Amino acid sequence: DILADQIAAGEVVERPASVVKELVENAIDANSSQIDILVEEGGLAKIQVIDNGEGIEDSDVELAFKRHSTSKILTKKDLFKIRTLGFRGEALPSIASVAEVELETAAKNAAGTAIKIKGGQILEKKMAARSQGTTITVADLFFNTPARLKYLKSIQTELAAISDIVNRLALSNTNIAFSFSSNGKTLLQTAGNGNLQQTISAIYGVNNARKMLAFTNEDLDFKISGFVSLPELTRASKNYISILINGRYIKNYQLTNAIIKGYGSKLMVGRYPFAVLAISLDPLLIDVNVHPTKQEVRISKEEQLGGLIRESIAQRIAPENL
Ligand code: ADP
Ligand code: MG
Repeated sequence: DILADQIAAGEVVERPASVVKELVENAIDANSSQIDILVEEGGLAKIQVIDNGEGIEDSDVELAFKRHSTSKILTKKDLFKIRTLGFRGEALPSIASVAEVELETAAKNAAGTAIKIKGGQILEKKMAARSQGTTITVADLFFNTPARLKYLKSIQTELAAISDIVNRLALSNTNIAFSFSSNGKTLLQTAGNGNLQQTISAIYGVNNARKMLAFTNEDLDFKISGFVSLPELTRASKNYISILINGRYIKNYQLTNAIIKGYGSKLMVGRYPFAVLAISLDPLLIDVNVHPTKQEVRISKEEQLGGLIRESIAQRIAPENL
């Protein structure tokens, strides 16, 4: 149902960066070790994501573009212990309903398939030779939803939003080699060797990475680890704070504040630290099924977790520990 897909697209696909996020998350869920992201004109002209993951069987390719069809959840119970990034089966049909999508994919030891869909209509499906993995190309985003198109900001702003998402996905998946280019110019390349500090270096630059301190701590419910900047390394935006829960990048106001509070009076007004905070917890303590974009989560025992974060950071940047 193309209309239902377009309505869902309004929630899932706000802007080019949301397309990038959904496509890269799919590539991550497919157990890729290499993911290349290419965009043109802030993603408005073209977004391409190439992965070397599991690929899609020929017989499942059309199904992947059907609403609420996901290969990732089998039972209702699975909803309460989600480990994959996707699970709603909304992204591909939503994107394909508001753009032109070409997908080339091959599963292990299988012949490849290519499919072209525009505005929710399949234009072409054929065999295509390729190695295992998936390439998905999204062009002409929002061609049939002019209101959405009008609402977008400048190409520069959209590119910055994409960059931001790619950075966070790279930070949350240090064992995947990412490359990201815009109009042919490489903006990021990570090694994929599992080293968070090297990934931070690739993203924020060696000099900034040198001013970030490793920390780790835990209580009965939570394990936290990551890197926080020396109080002297700050920015005027909270964009340099990334929070990952069980490998998933999330947004959470309280936890972001807990990081900032860890600095106490060491931060000047309006200045924010760099931080990459990885939290691991029992999936039962987190509800990711709050919003279609899956970025906002509910956490049980949030105050306890906030306290642990605040104290760990305060301790790590205390003068006697530097
Ligand atoms: P979800 O990720 O919530 O399952 P999507 O609409 O994002 O839903 O994707 C639909 C299905 O298409 C996925 O469940 C998966 O089986 C398949 N798929 C999408 N992208 C890829 C990819 N890059 N590699 C392998 N399979 C993919
Ligand atoms: Mg998905």
